[in-house]
Amino acid sequence: MIRFENVTKRYRGTSKPALTDVDFEVLRGEFVFLVGASGSGKSTCLRLILREDTPSEGRVVVLGRDLRTLSNSKVPYFRRHVGAVFQDFRLLPTKTVFQNVAFTLQVIGSSRGFIQQAVPEVLAMVGLAGKEKRFPHELSGGEQQRVAIARALVNRPQVLLADEPTGNLDPATSVDIMQLLERINAGGTTVVMATHEAGFVNQMQRRVIELQNGEMVRDERHGGYGDTSGIPSLAPVPVRGAAAVAALTAVLEVQRAVEASGPDAVVASAEIEDDLVATIADTSGDETPTSLEQPAQRRPELDETEAQPASQHEPEKPAPRPSTQPIPVADIAEVDVAELGLADRLGLGPGLGEIDPGDEVGPTS
Ligand code: ADP
Repeated sequence: MIRFENVTKRYRGTSKPALTDVDFEVLRGEFVFLVGASGSGKSTCLRLILREDTPSEGRVVVLGRDLRTLSNSKVPYFRRHVGAVFQDFRLLPTKTVFQNVAFTLQVIGSSRGFIQQAVPEVLAMVGLAGKEKRFPHELSGGEQQRVAIARALVNRPQVLLADEPTGNLDPATSVDIMQLLERINAGGTTVVMATHEAGFVNQMQRRVIELQNGEMVRDERHGGYGDTSGIPSLAPVPVRGAAAVAALTAVLEVQRAVEASGPDAVVASAEIEDDLVATIADTSGDETPTSLEQPAQRRPELDETEAQPASQHEPEKPAPRPSTQPIPVADIAEVDVAELGLADRLGLGPGLGEIDPGDEVGPTS
């Protein structure tokens, strides 16, 4: 699904490469942490996957496409299959929650009918039903990140890239977002997350790829963060952080129990979840965690040739129906040309609305 083949990246005007001979493969359905000190090359990896940049040497292959040979005109279409969220959310401040998510679909020319259906569905999936008309400044940080995740998912991408998605959030809210990313991954979306959050990496025991000064020094199937000495921290470590990590552990245990026991376990897990909500609420000043969300409904895979890790085989469930009233069509703002810079950043421009069938991303190599 994502393959780095001996990738070296040198930025113009720098003597030392940002990445040196990095080589790894991410399979469909994996959850991968990219870890390492600031400047070790994590964001560069994500930028190469998004085709915001190209390697100086080596190849990056995503969804069967060698990104070096992907023409610029095909990049916007390629990026519709790769959602991305960032530390700073990157929401449009003058648009409502609904409009922020709808914007992604508007610029690729989706019909109003589709937008009316898809946006409430994805907002319900990330736990934001009922907040469609809020503006970003009327939301907590965790809710803003949920909007960003909804926006990244509304195209139902096969891959979700997350660059320090909890970096601006308090520990309890971070648990909430990690829980959501876990659910998204359980629905089949491949997740690659760059992070400094050693606690989450250690607790979740997912695959860990570690970079040091641009070199890959570790690729561990069920790893922890490893050496945390490079992470700047303000002593003393906040007690709330430890509580948040404990809460995440409990979330993961509930999820595993439900997955192992089937539907009958759901009622029992609801009680545990109530306790958990109380636990997390104790650690948070302004956030109330939502219930476990339904996994996203996925588009048919374009890249069917790759194997999935056994643990990722989850029955697909339909996305929940929106619990809110449909937003009137008039509420969907027209595309603002000034905002197309953001559209480009999100992988939506140029070539707005032009879907060339020849641009389909598929297993071509
Ligand atoms: P991380 O995400 O792990 O903090 P980055 O990928 O952002 O690391 O950076 C890796 C290295 O590349 C750093 O030394 C950084 O200064 C350098 N770098 C990143 N972006 C650029 C750029 N656009 N131009 C020049 N150097 C860059």
